[in-house]
Amino acid sequence: MHDLSISQAIARTVLKEARDQKAKEILSIEIEIGELTFLNPEQVRFWLKEIFKESMAEKAEVHIKKVYPQIKCQDCHWRGRMNIKDDPLYHTYFFIPKCPKCGSSSLKIEKGRECKVRKIRVRL
Ligand SMILES: [Zn+2]
Repeated sequence: MHDLSISQAIARTVLKEARDQKAKEILSIEIEIGELTFLNPEQVRFWLKEIFKESMAEKAEVHIKKVYPQIKCQDCHWRGRMNIKDDPLYHTYFFIPKCPKCGSSSLKIEKGRECKVRKIRVRL
């Protein structure tokens, strides 16, 4: 259900933007999905195709770009990519990452939580 509601939100954004531009048709869209959203890109693609049926985005190509998590340690200033294990335990709100250099857990997540529409190509 997570994938579906996010897909609906993406579709709303895309269709509204296209209407604002007075587009006749949406040709392609580009979406960025951060790994920390735990969305399944193929599910998102599937739902978008469903939602876009009989809309001006029906034939739109959907490009999905995955964004890998990047963290910065507030203590030692280490910055790098965070590895997410493919383990359901990690898919919870209780998951606390630790700095691989100093073990601190005061980390700032700089990338990987986003889910946004980066580009929309329309035919006016
Ligand atoms: Zn550190």
